[in-house]
Amino acid sequence: MPRGSLIIISGPSGAGKGTLVDRLVARVPRLWVSVSATTRAPRPGEVDGEDYVFLSSEEFARRIDEDDFLEWAEVHGNRYGTLRSEVERRLAEGRDVVLEIDPQGAFQVKELMPEAVLVFIIAPSLDELERRIRGRGAETDEQVRTRLATAVRELELVECYDHVVENDDVARATDELVALIGSLHNDEGRS
Ligand code: 5GP
Repeated sequence: MPRGSLIIISGPSGAGKGTLVDRLVARVPRLWVSVSATTRAPRPGEVDGEDYVFLSSEEFARRIDEDDFLEWAEVHGNRYGTLRSEVERRLAEGRDVVLEIDPQGAFQVKELMPEAVLVFIIAPSLDELERRIRGRGAETDEQVRTRLATAVRELELVECYDHVVENDDVARATDELVALIGSLHNDEGRS
């Protein structure tokens, strides 16, 4: 069985990565989306084990020591990491795996697995990004400013990515991602 492809999706908070990934999985059933671990507190409505595996700082540190993470990074004062064993298992089963992670993590994985495809999602503009983050209503003013500052910094990394997708319209951007993932398999001579 050929190994699945690894697709890494990054982009600023508020660019709509989560929505796009949900749409993508609904369209491409062979995709499996990794559930990251984090020390961040759950937002209202987030479910442990579905949105994230929520860990205490101590537990996260223990998992680092045990080498359980494929990558991990600190983002906005919290730690986030991809659990290695699940990703490996799915790839070995021939599933395509999506990691929704920040650029620090994306580059760590690309070092280990150069065949990984890096995709960056951008919002049409910074004003639109701010509007979307504020519209979500989950962050304080200071947290919104931190997230916007991170977004500006991350935009400079766009050129290190294999593909950039503008989320101007969810349906259109989803179509672009579906086509991109389809093309990975055509390149390998399988459909
Ligand atoms: P949020 O707190 O908004 O859910 O996520 C904040 C940031 O952490 C986003 O940029 C998201 O892509 C990133 N992130 C989520 N999970 C992981 C992970 O497992 N590893 C890394 N490096 N970043 C992650």
